[in-house]
Amino acid sequence: MPHRTELDPHKFRRRGVLFVLSSPSGAGKSTIARKLLAADPYLEMSVSYTTRPMRPGEVDGKDYHFVDLERFREMVSNHEFLEWAHVFNERYGTPKQQVSDILASGRDVLFDIDWQGAQQLFQLAGGDVVRVFILPPSLKILHERLIKRATDATEIIDARMARATSEVSHWDGYDYVLVNDDIQSTYESVHTILKAERLKRSRQTGLIGFIRGLNK
Ligand code: ADP
Ligand code: 5GP
Repeated sequence: MPHRTELDPHKFRRRGVLFVLSSPSGAGKSTIARKLLAADPYLEMSVSYTTRPMRPGEVDGKDYHFVDLERFREMVSNHEFLEWAHVFNERYGTPKQQVSDILASGRDVLFDIDWQGAQQLFQLAGGDVVRVFILPPSLKILHERLIKRATDATEIIDARMARATSEVSHWDGYDYVLVNDDIQSTYESVHTILKAERLKRSRQTGLIGFIRGLNK
C-alpha cells in the first residue's frame, strides 16, 4: 500500500517518514510516543531489541524485545539491525525487518532511540528521517519526574541524571528541539511536526503525476 498524505484531499503517494524522538531519560518521550500512537493510525512504533533487564510493567515484544548478550551479538553479526548502540552499559538496537514491514504497509515509523541511533539512521536514510529532541524544563524537574515515575532504583536514577547533561549536549543533532513543560501542548507540537513533514514536497512522490495531469 502506498503512503498517503494525511489531510491532503488529493492523497498523493509519498515517501514514509522515519520519525525519531529522543530525550534525556525522564523528559517525557515515552509519554509523548504513547499519545502519538493512540492518535495517529498512520504511525507505528519500531520495537527495539535490548540486553537490559525488563522493568516492572514492561511487556516483552511490546516495549522491547528483551534478549541476552549472546543473542544480541548474533543479530549484530547477521546484520539484523539498522542501527545499534551502547546505552547505560547495555545494548539497544533497531531491527531492520520491522522498519521495512511498517514502511511497506504504508505507515510511518516512530523511533524512541538515543542520539547515537538518530545519527546512524540519518547517515543511512537522511532525507526520510525527522529528528525531534525533547528537553525537560530543568534538571531539577527531570529528577522529580524520574522519582515520580517510580520505575528505577535510586542508583539507576542517579546514573540517568549523570547521563542527562551529556545527552542534552547533542541537541544540535536534531531538526526540532522542544521543552516539555506541559505534556498536552508538547504532544500537540510533536504531532504538528509529523503532519507538516508528511506534507513536504520532497516526500510527495505522487505530486508529479498530478501536475502532469493539470497541464494536459
Ligand atoms: P522518558 O520516556 O523520556 O524516559 P517518560 O515519558 O517515562 O520519560 O516520563 C517520565 C515521567 O514524567 C512519567 O512519570 C511521566 O508521566 C511524567 N511526565 C512526562 N511529561 C510530563 C510533563 N510535561 N509534566 C509532568 N510530568 C510529566
Ligand atoms: P530505556 O532503558 O530508558 O528504555 O532507554 C534508554 C535509552 O536507550 C533511551 O534514550 C532510548 O531512547 C534509547 N534506545 C532505546 N532503543 C534504542 C535503539 O534501538 N537504539 C538506540 N540507539 N537507542 C535506543
